[in-house]
Amino acid sequence: MNLILFGPPAAGKGTQAKRLVDSRKMVQLSTGDMLRAAIASGSELGGRVAGIMERGELVSDEIVIELIEQRLPEAEAAGGAIFDGFPRTIAQAQALDAMLEHRGSRIDLVIRLKVDDQALMDRVAGRFAESGRPDDNPESFKVRLGAYNAQTAPLLPYYQNHKKLVEVDGMGAIDAVAAAIDEALEAPRW
Ligand code: AMP
Repeated sequence: MNLILFGPPAAGKGTQAKRLVDSRKMVQLSTGDMLRAAIASGSELGGRVAGIMERGELVSDEIVIELIEQRLPEAEAAGGAIFDGFPRTIAQAQALDAMLEHRGSRIDLVIRLKVDDQALMDRVAGRFAESGRPDDNPESFKVRLGAYNAQTAPLLPYYQNHKKLVEVDGMGAIDAVAAAIDEALEAPRW
């Protein structure tokens, strides 16, 4: 089973992905985490993406597609991937479909976490105060939301056309959102 957790920055994708890793033994593939690890390691890739990420812009499709491709065998061996923060552009979604098809696999379900913009801003203000994550500052967060609306939201009709999209209210408490995701995963589909 391959699942995409879809939604704007700070919608709770990472939190819910980690819970699914614990409960279903799937592998979380978060391009944001992979890129932050590259920066922390001081690699050449990290050096190339640090400024882009800090500003809240998207890094190039080629970079994230390659990061994902490297991790697909591991996810396959575990029985499935939870894509978190990927794909973020139509080009990434098409590349993902092609890579999975090549491996005899596919995306089974896309769960969209719906959270309104004001709630996202409030969440991120709290997170920035706690973690100091550089791209959670208000300026960069606005750029990240803009990138989501301009480049990532257009994926919704793409997945809707493929009959893979399920919407979940992401405004509630973590446990309530988790229960709604479980329900979506268990529901008979199409
Ligand atoms: P995230 O942790 O998913 O919010 O990602 C943090 C930052 O990493 C984003 O604001 C982008 O700069 C970069 N990033 C992560 N995933 C992608 C992606 N799929 N495509 C382009 N940039 C990405």
